[in-house]
Amino acid sequence: MSIKWLRLKRICEELSGRTVQIHSSTEVADDHVAATEFNETEATILLNSGRTKSLEMIIRAIAHEITHIQESSNKHNIDFNEKWEKNVVIVTEKYNK
Ligand SMILES: [Zn+2]
Repeated sequence: MSIKWLRLKRICEELSGRTVQIHSSTEVADDHVAATEFNETEATILLNSGRTKSLEMIIRAIAHEITHIQESSNKHNIDFNEKWEKNVVIVTEKYNK
């Protein structure tokens, strides 16, 4: 399966209002699906290549990290999962458009 990485990058940039780099790496700890670092203008999303093997898993992981960026927090607040699930739907719709 071919992943449209540039399309995912553009979707992340639209949803986060930042320049976004997406990296997929074999060097992420096994207990992490993905991670993000961000400031006011830029964000980096790091995917664990071993735990994001399908488009669905990649979109779920990216939507999770986008939610952190939108919230400007790495915490999982009480409504985090709800916002994450909404972002999964939004990213999936934009990806398939
Ligand atoms: Zn998280």
